[in-house]
Amino acid sequence: MSTVLSVEKLSTFFRTDKGIAKAVENVSFSVDKGEMLGLIGESGCGKTTVAQSILRLIEYPGKVVAGSVYLNGKNLLKATDSELTGLRWREISVIPQSAMNALNPVYTVGDQIIEAILLHDNVNKKEAVERTKRLLELVGIDGERWKSYPHEFSGGMKQRVAIAMALACNPKLVISDESTTGLDVLTQAQVIALIKNLQKKMNLSVILISHDLPMVTSICDRIAIMYAGNLVEWASTKEILNDARHPYSKALLNATPDLSNSEREVISIPGSVPSLVNIPTCCRFHTRCPYAFDRCRQETPEFMEIKPGHYVACFLEEEQNG
Ligand code: SF4
Repeated sequence: MSTVLSVEKLSTFFRTDKGIAKAVENVSFSVDKGEMLGLIGESGCGKTTVAQSILRLIEYPGKVVAGSVYLNGKNLLKATDSELTGLRWREISVIPQSAMNALNPVYTVGDQIIEAILLHDNVNKKEAVERTKRLLELVGIDGERWKSYPHEFSGGMKQRVAIAMALACNPKLVISDESTTGLDVLTQAQVIALIKNLQKKMNLSVILISHDLPMVTSICDRIAIMYAGNLVEWASTKEILNDARHPYSKALLNATPDLSNSEREVISIPGSVPSLVNIPTCCRFHTRCPYAFDRCRQETPEFMEIKPGHYVACFLEEEQNG
């Protein structure tokens, strides 16, 4: 399968009053054509910073300090502003956390989608209107409602409009950044099912950013697990469910209720996420890890492939494999 996006050793830091916050450090993963990758971790672990770094949306006092992001072979971090404008929407787009913020209340939803199409694709207004109607139909909204304003839609419908807008210029890769935040549970499930449906139908590549492990394991092909700015494990969903190796991944799975097995005890992860400011060289999970030993407090484990397609950053793997 061909690789659409390749993120290599990405590091994004923020200058704060207390020092440099290493929000994302040395993160590497890729997304294949037609693949849905789940990027998962607790709040504040760096998921959204990864997405914003990929999209070149990091603003001062933040900065991408190292790494590369290749989208179909083009390094986005080196692209000029005009190259980026050409790539956004047509190659890569985002379904934002809150459609409320993404949609302008004074324009009809149709006009907002039409504007995006006219700005990025060489079509006339009539074609843009027809495409907008088709896009609305695609996400389950009557195409004739293109003249409605955002306030005329429910939260779930607004999120559907945001999805239609993200697909306006036929992108190859869509980043869904906690796209169901603020919606009720039933609407969340409907929106996620819609994203999965469209991904399959259009053979899209999707990065699904979430903290909802059961949802991610139910629909993603591969899962990348972040902890405190580092990627700690990346593998197929099957591997993560059957053979998670990183102590944080295991703790995350144990902290998640299993609806198919009500007997299984849910064990919360002790302690809290460390401050990312002036973090010393170490495994960032060592303060919460039941297996931590001296080396974990002095060195940073490498992110390495322990079996085909399964990557982990933990010294236990090195110890076990000699
Ligand atoms: Fe635990 Fe050490 Fe592995 Fe970190 S490197 S997860 S502290 S065993």
